[in-house]
Amino acid sequence: MLDKKKFYINGKWVAPSKANDLDVIDPCTEEPVATISLGSKEDTNAAVSAAKTAFESWKESSKEERVALLEKLLTIYKKRYNEMVDAISLEMGAPTDWSNDVQTASGQSHLEDFILRLKEFKFDKKFSSESNNRICYEPIGVCGLITPWNWPINQIALKVVPAFATGCTMILKPSELAPLSAMLFAEMIDEAGFPPGVFNLVNGDGAGVGTDISGHPDINLVSFTGSTRAGRLISKNAAETIKRVCLELGGKGGNIVFADSYPNAVRDGIRNVMSNSGQSCDAPTRMLVEKSIYERAIKEAADEANLIKVDHASKKGDHIGPVISKTQYDKIVNLIQSGIDEGATLAAGGPELPNGMNKGYFIKPTIFTNVTNDMRIAKEEIFGPVLSIIPFETEDEAIKIVNDTEYGLGNYLQTEDKEKAKRVSRKLNAGIIYVNGIGPDAGTPFGGFKQSGNGREGGVWGLEEYLEVKTVTDWKE
Ligand code: NAD
Repeated sequence: MLDKKKFYINGKWVAPSKANDLDVIDPCTEEPVATISLGSKEDTNAAVSAAKTAFESWKESSKEERVALLEKLLTIYKKRYNEMVDAISLEMGAPTDWSNDVQTASGQSHLEDFILRLKEFKFDKKFSSESNNRICYEPIGVCGLITPWNWPINQIALKVVPAFATGCTMILKPSELAPLSAMLFAEMIDEAGFPPGVFNLVNGDGAGVGTDISGHPDINLVSFTGSTRAGRLISKNAAETIKRVCLELGGKGGNIVFADSYPNAVRDGIRNVMSNSGQSCDAPTRMLVEKSIYERAIKEAADEANLIKVDHASKKGDHIGPVISKTQYDKIVNLIQSGIDEGATLAAGGPELPNGMNKGYFIKPTIFTNVTNDMRIAKEEIFGPVLSIIPFETEDEAIKIVNDTEYGLGNYLQTEDKEKAKRVSRKLNAGIIYVNGIGPDAGTPFGGFKQSGNGREGGVWGLEEYLEVKTVTDWKE
């Protein structure tokens, strides 16, 4: 059992102001593996005060100094990579290979890309060739960063690295369900020698530290990734102090599979939903299939789902792990049952534990066919390995169904017709459209339309979120 009760404040690991322990549960075994502390207002205040003091000098740091520290952090990240793989596997049940190749790799790739963007970024530029006005970008100040458990280090890197790169100081509150990767990242930051107070970590839950951060008068920006439910509460609580609120929220992605899609499009779509045990905000959880290939598609979909193995995180090879917690497990099983009750056809999986398992929060890869977009399984973010398949006849009908959701994070389309791909991409309401199974390049922006949020993370857009923009007139060269 790991003792992880301390917080990282002002360059030191310190005990919480009062004891309030929480066990971190391994979702594969349902057993506690570590104990953390849930912080109080005093802990948050101490971290914010350290960040506020540090900002006075850190905002004057040079780009070169920040690049050098980030390069040092990257070297340490690579050196301690395997520790990160293990931490993510333990806290969220991610299979070792997945944790290594995808989860931990995402942190490294964001570090590498932000270093590149920072080197190129101009913090100060001429407005236009005819004007002598100057546009200056300045760090916004103290940032409160609140992250979820499903892509733990991915989300942390997408916030901590640009905040640091732009000269901000920060307090990170990772998910209380998966805090181990965050604490390891804090150790790496300490080892890299970031100045005291620039980066602080306080563990806690949403009602405690999360709420204290969003309402804090000395925090200038809150960057939040998590549920739309919590995003709404954070916005309300932050309104009183008019801080900048950057939200990366939930999704209910649509994946249009046209009859002229590439041969493996259906099977790839299934793999995409089930990976990370269905716990991805941009997962393509509604597959829309053109009627002329519907019968073939549903056979392929069920077959592919049945091929996906479910197993413990420690097992090597290609399989999915459990979902994060008992609460999520119960919610997913309840939604699967709702699909059955509302009349969708269960083509693979179901609410029972996978064969041979009697412990752990494991869910069978589940496929529903003959779904209509008004069923709960088509409307609500399930956040488990569950896919709904909906038939369509025309392009316009498919677009209408995909857009008929309160979310707008990631949509997908599969067609070999390049003009149709462009036309449909323009009409889909989402921050990213994945065409023909191709992922985005490093440094492209990521974020949502509608109730999927209002921010953009990654690349130059990710840096700009942490900057104020100032116009200065009569700037004489
Ligand atoms: P969650 O909203 O329950 O928790 C996320 C974080 O917010 C945690 O650290 C939690 O402690 C904190 N929190 C909860 N309530 C809060 C409150 N009232 N005030 C302040 N902080 C609060 O979400 P989760 O279950 O950890 O993560 C899953 C959700 O995250 C899904 O909805 C998923 O779609 C979303 N997500 C979105 C993106 C994106 O980039 N858009 C990426 C990953 C995950």
